[in-house]
Amino acid sequence: MRNFTCVCGQGVFFENTLCTACRRRLGFDPQRGELLALEPDHADPAGGSWRCADTELTYRLCRNDLDFHVCNWLVSDSDQQYCLSCRLNHIVPGLESSTQAPLRRERWARLEQAKRRLLFTLLAMGLPVMSKSESQSEGLAFAFLEDQRSNPKVLEQHVLTGHWQGLITVNLAEADHVEREKMRQGLGESYRTLLGHLRHESGHYFFEQCVVRQGALEGFRELFGDEREDYDAALARHYTQPMPPKKWPEMISAYAQAHPLEDWAECWAHYLHMMDTLETASDYGLVPGGVMDLRRQPDIEWCLWQWSRVSVAMNALNRSMGLEDAYPFVHSEMTLRKLRYVHQRIYPSSMPTQMEASV
Ligand SMILES: [Zn+2]
Ligand SMILES: [Zn+2]
Ligand SMILES: [Zn+2]
Repeated sequence: MRNFTCVCGQGVFFENTLCTACRRRLGFDPQRGELLALEPDHADPAGGSWRCADTELTYRLCRNDLDFHVCNWLVSDSDQQYCLSCRLNHIVPGLESSTQAPLRRERWARLEQAKRRLLFTLLAMGLPVMSKSESQSEGLAFAFLEDQRSNPKVLEQHVLTGHWQGLITVNLAEADHVEREKMRQGLGESYRTLLGHLRHESGHYFFEQCVVRQGALEGFRELFGDEREDYDAALARHYTQPMPPKKWPEMISAYAQAHPLEDWAECWAHYLHMMDTLETASDYGLVPGGVMDLRRQPDIEWCLWQWSRVSVAMNALNRSMGLEDAYPFVHSEMTLRKLRYVHQRIYPSSMPTQMEASV
């Protein structure tokens, strides 16, 4: 993530809707990848239009901001009511008046926030982000669903987080910190976040485009195994049998060993963790060697080396604050090879590194 600055000079976060110094309204333009300071556009007779304080470009706020305050992305196309991120929503939580509605809105807002962070990185990397209204078969969509465990009034008994044909489903309960922590402990995981879920599921979505269509299945099978292995049986085995110890050093996490496609999605998520965090660290001047720009193909060997330093420093900082490790993972030569493979799928014009070529 980049380090954004308001037109007044104040540092502002990607999620901010208001500058704490000059009180200007803030909004993110996904086409330009910029968080902009805005002023009301008095030239608009209908109202509702905002002018960028810097460029004079005009925008409208996303409908999900006006109605529910769950979005800070801007709309520049006059035909649209929703921003690029919200146009991907297939199902969002019902907010009909009930005592639970404020809680539901809060959880939904957390999911939208994580989704926008995912999309920011995908867009910066030049990966295609299109809605199902643009392409039913190839588009990406999100469903944020409750099940009867958290809301007895809904029909779904059991909602699992997952991906199917471009639709990413997340159980709304994952956005409750206590519930998610219970699930994390119950499954013996060392890391469980909304952003992690969305990054993992996006890996399943991009498998077809980035692996199959690039003709890279042979290299995939050498590293991850045969993706034609019965998926349902593998997942059932993973969840019904006691968790086997992690197959070190091939696997990045215990869940990665459930199936080759889960290993891929885990490595994809870790690649996004690494690149986003390195971008943040470099934009805050914490990484030597200039500012990292995901729009230009980064050097993967430089990234892996910096990540080995930055992730350890992050963990040390967290420990200084009495917190758990931010990145509780250790890489082996095999998991590094898998990250190099993901890099080449996202930046297909990158040459295989010597180490990757030897796989
Ligand atoms: Zn400001
Ligand atoms: Zn929006
Ligand atoms: Zn998965």
